[in-house]
This record gives sequence, structure tokens and C-alpha cells, in this order.
Amino acid sequence: MISVDQALEKVLGLVDVLESESSPILDCLGQVLAEDIYSDIAVPPWDNSAMDGYALQAQDTKGASQQWPRLLSVVDTVTAGSISKYKVKAGTAIRIMTGAPMPDGADAVVKFEDTDEDRRKAAGDEIGILVAVKKGANVRRAGEDISQGSLVLSKGTVIRPAEVGVLASLGCGQVKVIRRPLVAILATGDELVEIGQPLPSGKIYDSNTYSVAALVRRYGGIPKILGIASDSEASLTAGLRQGLDADMIITTGGVSMGDYDVVRDVLAKEGELVFWKVGMKPGKPLAFGFLKGGGGRKIPHFGLAGNPVSTMVNFELFVRPAILKMMGRKNLTKPTVEAAIEGAIVNRDGRRIFARAVVEKGTGGYLARLTGPQGSGILTSMSLANGLVIVPEDKKGVVAGDIVQVMMLDWNEETGA
Ligand code: AMP
Ligand code: MG
Repeated sequence: MISVDQALEKVLGLVDVLESESSPILDCLGQVLAEDIYSDIAVPPWDNSAMDGYALQAQDTKGASQQWPRLLSVVDTVTAGSISKYKVKAGTAIRIMTGAPMPDGADAVVKFEDTDEDRRKAAGDEIGILVAVKKGANVRRAGEDISQGSLVLSKGTVIRPAEVGVLASLGCGQVKVIRRPLVAILATGDELVEIGQPLPSGKIYDSNTYSVAALVRRYGGIPKILGIASDSEASLTAGLRQGLDADMIITTGGVSMGDYDVVRDVLAKEGELVFWKVGMKPGKPLAFGFLKGGGGRKIPHFGLAGNPVSTMVNFELFVRPAILKMMGRKNLTKPTVEAAIEGAIVNRDGRRIFARAVVEKGTGGYLARLTGPQGSGILTSMSLANGLVIVPEDKKGVVAGDIVQVMMLDWNEETGA
């Protein structure tokens, strides 16, 4: 049995960053940019108005006030997307909408609220300016967001919605990113039935395939569901071979004491084992190794513990960082918070415990409340939880009120909970 830290170090030392590919920007969320992005254009391309108002010469507003409006004659209206044919000269103004290019001759904009716009109809083609403004007032300068030729996003940047928007503002529809891993998922167990089918006695539905596929997708990979293999060497071998085009293969189940023989025999023939059994609870019987793909390609294989909670905890701890590393991400750890625990946990056999908990903000900091029964088959405990309380392997346990580290699975802000 190796420790959680040793296991993670081994996994991360053995999986490689994938190649890059060109993708439409909207498909790149969470992916890592594989090229520097320079701008061919300035954004905005020309000076434009930051307000709905009047483009004018600032000097014409000198001394203007509510009591002493400066009257200017309005020569045109310009909306966003069009250019005025007129020039602003002394004593004139052009009605302008937000985002419209500044007309020639104008050097400032006075917003509607600072004019007698609401009485304008009566005033004919004149507008009363009620405030004095300086040159440049309410004008957005050409290139104030991005100057032409500048480095806008550098290689290694993680693409979030803001980066998608920035790329679009440059007119860029495709970028080079490190590609997403294709992750093949195979459930094992004679007791498993595919969802949507009737449930014969003695059988259970295969939930691991779906929780794992959802996790793969959540962290940026592409799940490839292989289905269910029975607990025989032939069925497992046939199932695994369906996944040899993937970048990673995940099996669930078949790795606990009694069952492991089959998986081990198959792995010995089809690949190599790096480790089996990790000092964690739940999820101890985790196996990690490689399967042989075409042309001698080594495909990382995770044999996740079969119990539904164990599967998910194994995934969060080892598969998630592996997927993120393959995608070129640098920050591979889940956020952790310190919280005061309500309730006690006893650590009997020196493994690192991950207990499902609900973390809430209290007046003096975070509070972690255990979700109830912690059996590794109680999948609803994962559904109730937003974090995993960590009890280190060298601690005998924790008691109510102790400050513990909690690995956050979700932030309330994100889930709306
Ligand atoms: P195993 O590691 O194969 O001995 O499985 C441990 C426990 O997890 C058993 O109770 C299995 O029935 C259950 N289990 C294994 N695979 C799945 C699955 N895909 N979906 C739901 N439960 C499973
Ligand atoms: Mg099994």
C-alpha cells in the first residue's frame, strides 16, 4: 500500500501533456492556449463615444451651467455602426450614441443627462449644454483595450469566458489549444445492468459509468462509454480493447481483494501495473498502470475501486489531476478550506480519510457538517456533500470543534446551492 501523496506523484510523473490542435473558440473553455495571440487590430479601432449624448468641442462648453446653458446647433445624429459625414465645428454638435465613432472635429461628449435633451423638440435644432467638460470627456480612445500588434493572450493561458470574449473582440474564430483527452470508461461486474433496462433480482444499475463520465466531462475530457464487462478475463479483455484508441482508460470495480485476480491477470497480459492499493478511505483498492495501445503507445489506466463513493473519490484525487495535466493545466489541486468540524471521525487504520461533508460559512469561518452514514456504497452522501473533510493518515481522528482541511468539491456560488 502506498500513500496518497506517493500515488499522486507517480501518476503525475507518468502522464504526459497531449498535443495541440486548432479549435473554434467556444469549444475551448477550460483548455490551455498553445500559441501566443497578437492582435492585428486595435480595439476599439477608432475613438468612440462612451455615452449617449452630444459630440462637441470642449471649449464650447466653457462656463455652461443649468442657469446658463450653452446653445449649440445640432448638425447630425450618428449611431453605433455608422460614420457621420459632418464635421463638428465651433458652435455645433452632433447627437451621438454609445459606441459610435467620434465625428471629425469633436473632442468630447456631453451625455444627454447634462443637456436639455428632454426639451430639445421645442428647441428645434439647438441643444442646451448644461455642464462644462474637458477634452476627452466620455471618449473611448482607439486601442484603449488592445493596441494593434500587442501580445493579448500568452501561451499557457487557461481559456475562460473572458478569454473567449477577448478572442472574439480580435475577430479570432479558432485558436491552437492543447487537446482534450478521450477517456474510455468500462464498468466491470456480473451484477451490473445498463440504465433503461429492467432490473432482474440480484442485479443493480451501473452508476459508476455515469458518475465517471460526468466527472470526465466536468474536468474537460471527452468520455467514451464502453459499457459493462462481466467478471471474466475474456469479457474484460474484449472490453478494454474497445478503448485502445483513447488517451486514458478507466475501469471501475474488480479491484477489491476477492476480485482483483481477474484484473491483475488481464493487466499483466495487456499492459503493466504501476501500483495497487493506496492508503485512503474510501477507495483503497485503486490500481494504476498502462495498457498497450497500437504502435507501442502506453495508455494510462486507472482501475477505480468499485463502490460508487470510492470511485468518485478516487477520481477526484487521481484522475482529475491526470486529466488536467494532460490538458496542459498547471494548477492541479482542488481548492481546500479550513473549517471547524461538527461531529467526530475516528481513524482506525492509518489511512487518509475523506469524509463527505457540507461546508457552510459560519460567523467565525467555515463549518463542516458530516452528511451522515459514510459507507462507500452510499452514493447519495456524495450528492449531499460539497466537500471532503480530510483526516491525515498520521492522526487518530478528529473531534467536534477541531479545525480540519476540507477539499471542496463545489462552491455554493457555482452550483447555486
Ligand atoms: P468490486 O470492486 O467490483 O468488488 O465492487 C465493489 C462494490 O461496488 C460492489 O458492491 C459492487 O456491486 C459495486 N459496484 C461495482 N461497480 C459498480 C458500478 N458500475 N455501479 C454501481 N455499483 C458498482
Ligand atoms: Mg465487481
